[in-house]
Amino acid sequence: MAVTALSHLGAAETCPRLVLKVGSALLVDRAGAVRREWLSSLAAEIAEKRRQGQEVLVVSSGAIALGARRLGLAHGGRASLADAQAAAAVGQIALSAIWSELLEVEGITAAQLLLTLDDLEDRRRYLNASSTLARLLERGAVPVVNENDSVATAEIRFGDNDRLAARVAQAAGADAVVLLSDVDGLFDRDPADPTAELVREVSGIDEQVRAMAGASSGSGMGSGGMVSKLQAAEIAGRAGIALAIVNGTHARPLSRAIAADRGTLFQPQRRDGGRKAWLGGRLAPAGVLTVDEGCAAALAEGASILAAGITAVDGDFARGDLVTVHGRKGDRLAQGLVEYSAGECRAIAGRKASEQADLLGYAPRAAVVHRDHMVLL
Ligand code: GLU
Repeated sequence: MAVTALSHLGAAETCPRLVLKVGSALLVDRAGAVRREWLSSLAAEIAEKRRQGQEVLVVSSGAIALGARRLGLAHGGRASLADAQAAAAVGQIALSAIWSELLEVEGITAAQLLLTLDDLEDRRRYLNASSTLARLLERGAVPVVNENDSVATAEIRFGDNDRLAARVAQAAGADAVVLLSDVDGLFDRDPADPTAELVREVSGIDEQVRAMAGASSGSGMGSGGMVSKLQAAEIAGRAGIALAIVNGTHARPLSRAIAADRGTLFQPQRRDGGRKAWLGGRLAPAGVLTVDEGCAAALAEGASILAAGITAVDGDFARGDLVTVHGRKGDRLAQGLVEYSAGECRAIAGRKASEQADLLGYAPRAAVVHRDHMVLL
């Protein structure tokens, strides 16, 4: 059963497994201290959910914001990568301590997982994380996840916990993600505009929705903003996982948002199976194949990518790497695992099957990106 209304989020029957993402602006006050009272109300709410049979995973930000104050770093610890990494190292240890303490008060065992982008991009490591999460939930623990910011470098970072939460939801086979934010949800224009209205439901993210997200401003403490929340909704939605943005600033935020029926719910769009969901949620492609209109049309009908339809090859990738497929105008159409290296792709791009053996020096493969290893975006 899919989560299709905010009220579904509150019950084990309609949402057996939930990922709750807590942003920095909620956890840490302007002076850089933990908002302890608020966090203990959230811990109580999580415990209540658990007692009712709902499984909860937490994705918690706040390490950088917490550590920045302790180290006396300017710009909330985000002035440079080295600052962010040092701040995260200091903040994470404090963050784990407080989660562990407050959940313990509620009789719950907290479990910490610090993940890098690569942990979820690599299939084997993704499955490994997935089984750790499953085992923890089975034993009644509440996993508290964050990015391993102190070791992740700029190129291999998620950078925001919104997308991390969507990926964790996939890995955990969750039914929904709730992003607790300092705003009520997505507004149809800049929320500072008094005529701005809350968008309660989104089914399918199009240009209009993207434009709304671009107009929304964030708190400035975390790194997310509305754009990364939309990306998270896309990743989740393709895997059949609903995503909601609700205002988390008050005590017991989840129950409050559900009771008030206030927030934005992104409806799940389709239900890719496990492997395809993982593939569709991958974030770090190694290259881009641009295809002609005929190939783009065939792709939409479920065909594989053949060399004849490729007009350009960008990037340096090896066989088996993730590539994004673009249409003529640079629109993202699909992503998948490529069957050839970048050099081989360049050699056979635009060429018919009959010409390829000579160019490659061996019998060509069935496709450049096979439909079984590709998802439409
Ligand atoms: N992982 C970061 C932290 O713990 C937060 C990332 C975000 O702002 O979404 O501070």
